[in-house]
Amino acid sequence: MDGQSEHPNTDVIRTFCAEFVRGHAQNWPAKNEVLGKEFVTHFALPPFLHGADLVEIGENLKIRFVMENLPDDLLGSNFNFSGQRRIAVSDRLEHVGMKEHTFLHEVRELLEYEFREFGSPAVKMDTNELESHADQFALCAILCSTDETWDSWTKSAFEMQSRLGMLAAIALIFVGRVVCL
Ligand SMILES: [Zn+2]
Repeated sequence: MDGQSEHPNTDVIRTFCAEFVRGHAQNWPAKNEVLGKEFVTHFALPPFLHGADLVEIGENLKIRFVMENLPDDLLGSNFNFSGQRRIAVSDRLEHVGMKEHTFLHEVRELLEYEFREFGSPAVKMDTNELESHADQFALCAILCSTDETWDSWTKSAFEMQSRLGMLAAIALIFVGRVVCL
């Protein structure tokens, strides 16, 4: 904490969360759609995330991003200590959008830690609840940004060689549309 308070503006995640809590104090907790949209705008996330962008996006967010050999039942994990943040995503994730979705899922959990620090939790202290909020946020951040996103997701889903991968991608897209619309 000591290092952080000397340079409060360098913690971009904390700054974003502080602004977000302030901006939506009247109707807290704000919806994940709103959070997703503001997050995408604030950090200028590209309309269609590719796995390769994640390192760079992580740098902008001051989050260390790594692909790791995680246990089979774990898609991703996050770490937060005194403003040092890290996200690991399983290197087994190959289907279109899964890496990006998992990364943003973990980002949402990191945002929630900040909301709690500010005394404004957006989610009940319940692991399952946080999981579903994190999934909603991830889908909205990816799909609510622009129609371009929708188009390229659909396009890459239909171009996929693997039928299973294609179905998984399409399922994700439709879940995303339902959640975000
Ligand atoms: Zn999670």
